[in-house]
Amino acid sequence: MALQIVHHPDYDAGFAVNHRFPMSKYPLLMAALRARGLAVSEALSMPEPAPAAWLKLAHAADYVDHVLACEVPARIEREIGFPVGQRVSLRAQLATAGTVLAARLALKHGIACNAAGGSHHARRAQGAGFCTFNDVAVASLALLAERAVEHILVVDLDVHQGDGTADILKDEPRAFTFSMHGERNYPARKIASDLDIALLDGTGDAAYLDRLRAILPELSARRRWDIVFYNAGVDVHVEDRLGRLALSDDGLRARDKMVISHFRARGIPLCGVIGGGYSTDVPALAQRHAILFEAAAAYA
Ligand SMILES: [Zn+2]
Repeated sequence: MALQIVHHPDYDAGFAVNHRFPMSKYPLLMAALRARGLAVSEALSMPEPAPAAWLKLAHAADYVDHVLACEVPARIEREIGFPVGQRVSLRAQLATAGTVLAARLALKHGIACNAAGGSHHARRAQGAGFCTFNDVAVASLALLAERAVEHILVVDLDVHQGDGTADILKDEPRAFTFSMHGERNYPARKIASDLDIALLDGTGDAAYLDRLRAILPELSARRRWDIVFYNAGVDVHVEDRLGRLALSDDGLRARDKMVISHFRARGIPLCGVIGGGYSTDVPALAQRHAILFEAAAAYA
C-alpha cells in the first residue's frame, strides 16, 4: 500500500530565500517524495484550513482570533520569529488541519504523515520559535473531544524541547508527552514534559540510538496507546544550523525506522510530522525530511 501523505501547496508561505526559516523546504520535500515514488496521487490528501473551534481547544481564544485576523501583537510576532500576515496565518491553519487529517488517516490505515507540522513551541497563550499553532496539541485535543481515541502518546525527537506541547497538554491526563532533545538548545526555559531526556552537545548516532532503544519499551509499556504522534525533526543532524547534536543521515534513518517499527509492531497507529530542520542548503534539508516518509512507507 502507498503511504498516506497530507500536503497543501500553501504550506509554503513564500518567505524570501535568505529568511532564517527555510520555508521553501515544503515544496522541495514534496518534489523529493515524488522523485522517490512516495507521493502517489491516490494516497495524497489536502486539508481545509482548521476551524477556529479546533484551534481554541489548544490555544487561548484571543490569540487564535488575533492570528485569524492577522492582528498578532508585535511582541508575540517577535517571539514567533516572523510577522503573521495572511499567508502565514493560512499556512498555520492548513498545517494544523493537516496533522488532524493525518491522524485520522493513521487511525484508519495504521500510519500516515503530514508533510509539515511539529510546531511544538506554540504554547496555549501564544506562538513562539517559528511556531504559530501547535498542530500536534490541536490534533490530540480534537481526537479526544470527538472520542476517536482515549490515550495519546507524543514522541517528540526534534532537537528542541517540546515546551509548547508540554504546556498545552500538561493538565490532560489522556495525553503523555515525551521529548528527547539537546539540553543546551532553545527554549532556554523549558516546560516539563511528562518525560524529558536531555542530551549533551555533540551526541552522535550510537549514543543517541542507545538512549532511544532503551526508552521506547518504557513508553509503550505505560498503557495501550490509541495513537502515537511522532515529531521527526531533522535538526538533530550534524549539518543543522541550530542543532548542536551530530546525527548522520544513516542515524536519522535508523532513528525513524526504530520509532516506527516499534509502534507498528505493536499495532499502534502512528501519525508522523516533519518538525524542525534548519540548513542554508534547503534541497539537502528536504532530502533529510524525506527520510521519515521512506521509513513510514515501509510500514504502510
Ligand atoms: Zn527544532
